[in-house]
Amino acid sequence: MVTDKASDAQNDKLNVLKSTQTVVQIALEKLGYPDEVFELLKEPIRMMTVRIPVRMDNDAVKIFTGYRAQHNDAVGPTKGGVRFHPNVSENEVKALSIWMSLKAGIVDLPYGGGKGGIVCDPREMSFRELEGLSRGYVRAISQIVGPTKDIPAPDVFTNPQIMAWMMDEYSRIDEFNNPGFITGKPLVLGGSHGRESATAKGVTICIDEAIKKQGMELKGARVVIQGFGNAGSFLAKFMHDAGAKVIGISDAYGGLHDPDGLDIDYLLDRRDSFGTVTKLFNDTITNEELLELDCDILVPAAVENQITEDNADKVRASIVVEAANGPTTLAATKILNDKGTLLVPDVLASAGGVTVSYFEWVQNNQGYYWSEEEIEEKLYKVMTKAFNTVYNTAQTRRVDMRLAAYMVGVRKMAEAARFRGWI
Ligand code: NAD
Repeated sequence: MVTDKASDAQNDKLNVLKSTQTVVQIALEKLGYPDEVFELLKEPIRMMTVRIPVRMDNDAVKIFTGYRAQHNDAVGPTKGGVRFHPNVSENEVKALSIWMSLKAGIVDLPYGGGKGGIVCDPREMSFRELEGLSRGYVRAISQIVGPTKDIPAPDVFTNPQIMAWMMDEYSRIDEFNNPGFITGKPLVLGGSHGRESATAKGVTICIDEAIKKQGMELKGARVVIQGFGNAGSFLAKFMHDAGAKVIGISDAYGGLHDPDGLDIDYLLDRRDSFGTVTKLFNDTITNEELLELDCDILVPAAVENQITEDNADKVRASIVVEAANGPTTLAATKILNDKGTLLVPDVLASAGGVTVSYFEWVQNNQGYYWSEEEIEEKLYKVMTKAFNTVYNTAQTRRVDMRLAAYMVGVRKMAEAARFRGWI
């Protein structure tokens, strides 16, 4: 019985939905909103669970479970990625949709948050099976999504090809070509310049701002990055090109460490499309060891609950920038803040992806496309403004960066709901 209670308490600490709700509630209290605002925002307004039949290569039909959560559409249509991963759960998708609402508020986009996921392991599926799953998911959720309702995008283990199949399926259902249905598409199908590297660009801008605040220099700084997928690999390249020393990277199978700096171009050349590279090496470290490496900047860019109360005091970086969603538990956030680490939270640091997704949607709607330079310039303006708004809120309200980001992110949603007369 005691063991059950202890494991319940442990599960609660790792429950990303509960911890998100906790911070949303504190943020709303600090802003002076009444309880009913929290009651409205603590869960998605709409949550759909779907069963997707796919004919596999061995001719058997396999049934997959998928989800689409729409957190809040007071500000505008909901928007957020679709994750293909064996650990996808209803709770995780709900939390991810709330984070998307917060991000949209922080970078001031005319969106609410949405998120989707399918319980599957795409690493073990053929190209044809993945196409069947992607198209089946769109058919299953087609009634609640669309360019003015809810706009999907890529997330863990989904990519421009999957977005292309999804856009094609939606366009067939809708009976006209509809690129604005989804973002993160290949360029030839109405994708945007700079979308693939946008999350990492946004993280880079946050690192630059954080470095300035800490009176440090990026040149020569030792950087450790967990995850070598879309976010992690582009970030490694940007850090390397800016003169920082990337001394550690990892993927789902382990990590690589070289105190003199890793050969990032070689690793980028050898990684597969799922962000796996460490399998090619014998001399690896674990993901746990990677997080505790002696470094200046640590960037978790993989999955949730990586920095917990068990390892937070062993994190040696003075700046932690969360490229991943939910990599640090609330208990670990407190430990890091107490020891003076500057923690740039996920809802701010990883908002570059949704920002350029917004640019992609705007370009699709207007049918006129911007250059890479224009995208970069616009992203830079949005991210530096967002970073400094959150940083200044943290200073003036004497709260940590996570709570400050939630306060900035939740306000627009709450105000929109109030003006609409919902609360
Ligand atoms: P991805 O699928 O391209 O790469 C994921 C990486 O994490 C891979 O290297 C994989 O091997 C590694 N990984 C998976 N499970 C792991 C584990 N248990 N331990 C260590 N490493 C593991 O995904 P991505 O798009 O780079 O997303 C990474 C994180 O960034 C996610 O939290 C995602 O929600 C967040 N994010 C991504 C975007 C985007 O535009 N891609 C935007 C905002 C936030």
